[in-house]
Amino acid sequence: MTVLAFIGLGIMGGPMAANLVKAGYDVIGYDTNHSALASLQNLGGRSAGSIAQAVTDADVVITMLPDSPDVQAVALGEEGIYANARAGTLHIDCSSIRPDIAQQLARRATDLGLRAVDAPVSGGEVGAIEALLSIMVGGQPDDVSEAQQILQHVGSTIVHVGPHGAGQTVKAANQLIVAGTIQLVAEAIVFLEAYGVDTTAAVKVLAGGLAGNAILDRKVTSMLQRDFTPGFRIDLHHKDMGILTSAARDAGVIIPLGSHVAQLIASLRASGHGQLDHTALLLLVERLSGRDLQSAKV
Ligand code: NAD
Repeated sequence: MTVLAFIGLGIMGGPMAANLVKAGYDVIGYDTNHSALASLQNLGGRSAGSIAQAVTDADVVITMLPDSPDVQAVALGEEGIYANARAGTLHIDCSSIRPDIAQQLARRATDLGLRAVDAPVSGGEVGAIEALLSIMVGGQPDDVSEAQQILQHVGSTIVHVGPHGAGQTVKAANQLIVAGTIQLVAEAIVFLEAYGVDTTAAVKVLAGGLAGNAILDRKVTSMLQRDFTPGFRIDLHHKDMGILTSAARDAGVIIPLGSHVAQLIASLRASGHGQLDHTALLLLVERLSGRDLQSAKV
């Protein structure tokens, strides 16, 4: 039986690891949050007391951590994955991190006789629970094929998009589109409400035309209810907009709307809303329009 170490059992990693247990893998989890480990154990996984313990006997190590420094620490630290994994182990990093850091990790893995692919995901918590994630994979073709055998149990669209780091570049583009779309849907909601339009009816017809999009399909009900329970936290989308704007700048690509939405997300975070779902951009549109009297439920 393939032994999988899974490090980072949060909103996304928890259900992903659970689906891998269901698929029949021997999953050894590690997280600094003990309750996340207990949940995995209840579902039939094993829990490790350290990264070293999780990865020593693993064939494949999956990481699902918040940000680039977290992945670097967990992979490259003295007690980390690369210092303790067996030769040939495949590291699949599903976290959303900087493309240049993904490339750096892959080089280091190769130097140490290990293998790495970047495999960030899209589809949110529901996608993780239902194993319907869209996964963009960067790396060597053989390693990507091996990763796909595992990732098919957590996602439904898995595409090899190029060499190391390419998965993260595609993920940055994904986050640009998601942030911009949420902002436009939020502006449409505040506009419709200002005119007293039945928003449920409006959303139904909008979703069927050229304005249709995944935010209208999956997120609008909670937005209309002002329920900003995460989901995907503003803090994490702020991190992703930083990755995007920096990578676009490095490439000399101008993203006026992306930069604008990045500032709006940064503003929400600066005003203490970093823990809300990213659909809380709606709060900011209300505030800018002087219509921010409704309170957010979390
Ligand atoms: P999360 O904060 O819910 O989970 C991260 C987990 O990592 C936590 O359980 C935390 O305790 C653990 N962790 C942090 N540092 C650790 C360490 N040093 N050792 C072991 N465990 C550690 O975050 P999330 O929402 O699951 O997101 C994870 C990644 O997936 C991020 O890069 C995010 O951008 C990306 N992502 C999230 C979503 C979403 O909807 N939440 C969707 C797509 C991609």
